[in-house]
Amino acid sequence: MITRSAHEMSSAMVSGEITSQELTKAHLDRISAVDKEVHAFLHVDTEGAMSQAKAVDEARARGEKLGPLAGVPLALKDVLVQKGIPTTCGSKILEGWRPPYDATVVTRLKNAGIVILGKTNMDEFAMGSSTENSAYGPTHNPWDLSRIPGGSGGGSSASLAAFQAPLAIGTDTGGSIRQPAAVTGTVGVKPTYGGVSRYGLVAFSSSLDQAGPCARTVLDAALLHEVIAGHDPKDATSIDSPVPQVVAAARSGDVKGMKIGVVKELNGDGYQAGVRSRFEESLELLAKAGAEIVEVSCPNFEYALAAYYLIAPSECSSNLARFDAMRYGLRVGDSDGASAESVMNLTREVGFGREVKRRIILGTYALSSGYFDAYYGSAQKVRTLIMQDFTKAFTKADVLVSPTSPTTAFKIGEKANDPLAMYLNDIATIPVNMAGIGGMSVPSGLAPEDNLPVGFQIMAPAMQDQRMYSVGASLEASLLSQWGAPLLSKIPALAGSK
Ligand code: GLN
Repeated sequence: MITRSAHEMSSAMVSGEITSQELTKAHLDRISAVDKEVHAFLHVDTEGAMSQAKAVDEARARGEKLGPLAGVPLALKDVLVQKGIPTTCGSKILEGWRPPYDATVVTRLKNAGIVILGKTNMDEFAMGSSTENSAYGPTHNPWDLSRIPGGSGGGSSASLAAFQAPLAIGTDTGGSIRQPAAVTGTVGVKPTYGGVSRYGLVAFSSSLDQAGPCARTVLDAALLHEVIAGHDPKDATSIDSPVPQVVAAARSGDVKGMKIGVVKELNGDGYQAGVRSRFEESLELLAKAGAEIVEVSCPNFEYALAAYYLIAPSECSSNLARFDAMRYGLRVGDSDGASAESVMNLTREVGFGREVKRRIILGTYALSSGYFDAYYGSAQKVRTLIMQDFTKAFTKADVLVSPTSPTTAFKIGEKANDPLAMYLNDIATIPVNMAGIGGMSVPSGLAPEDNLPVGFQIMAPAMQDQRMYSVGASLEASLLSQWGAPLLSKIPALAGSK
């Protein structure tokens, strides 16, 4: 049962084949069996999950009308607050903190009857591409435990690939949903900025952060997307217009007559050979399904990474000022006579990890008087140029595509001491965040040289998220008929699993 899709699990509950309590218990057992090796979870809420499952079973028994994912378990990235449940953002500075309220995403999950199993591991405050920056130790890729599961949401994607949960929530500031999806052979979607509420999402870079669905199939991602999306007055940047029809698009998977633009700048020599060959093969399949493949050029994407690493750290240096030892979690050096300033300094010194400190220092510098225009100001101008590149490209194509990540999963430790090499993982995902549009990663097979998953990225104009689902579902269906079984059935078995 745990290897089925969320949609199939839901049907099994509707037909009476299984209850939500049985399904939830099966996932909790799976977590106990394999999480020592995978380390996808920072907190497992056994009691809370079982009581949510019981409530759904009782509602079903009373004949209440339930949503399409009611009773299905889910793993929640530890950057979204859930009332009374430890929320650390992968940082020591929040150790012991229990939020007094639910994020809007969490409220919507609960209202839909989705069972929250626990909180997933992540790079500290979502800064990273490998989950190695978690203060609680790295997550391991279920395809090969010596490799990274991507980041920052490696815990969410790994939990899907290890069959610990059929659904997960991630957040994507520069690629943290899509890159982990790519390297674990799962589906991840960054909705249009403003499509999903940020209320209760602990802020890293407010103008870029966006929560979104992670799943093993495109339809499951769409079903979850519809649960969490939609206007929220508690988030000033939330878009007040109807949610794109993503479920309908995922069900039809129709690409006939669609124009698919290959971004010339996101498919060059820096990409691993097997990543490029899988990408070419996926394009052929989409062409066979009736899409027209065109080439587009986005010349300013070359500057996206540099501009991102000014804008994101600048916003983070301001957002992370709230962790001052007074309001949340950790407090160090609070002895008689200690000044507030020394407590703040000591707590931040001990509580933040190296990458977070690096970003705060970079951001503070970029915003300082005398440098503001040269750094932050220039980066904002680049952001406008990137948006203009997208606008122009979308006059030639309905969606744009590229490989999601330049390489497959690398070894744990391989890039840990080389920040620039780490940042380059997001070269193809960052432009989407800079422009506030939607991006999706779907599996496109295994790279022949290392037998590890490769992701195919689909980008759509703002609030046209349904287009990504049409293309994703079409590609998924073509590849499935080629393989005869889902990609994850090829995953080497984890020890402890059956
Ligand atoms: N890897 C990128 C970073 O370190 C993106 C992170 C994210 O999307 N949260 O900033």
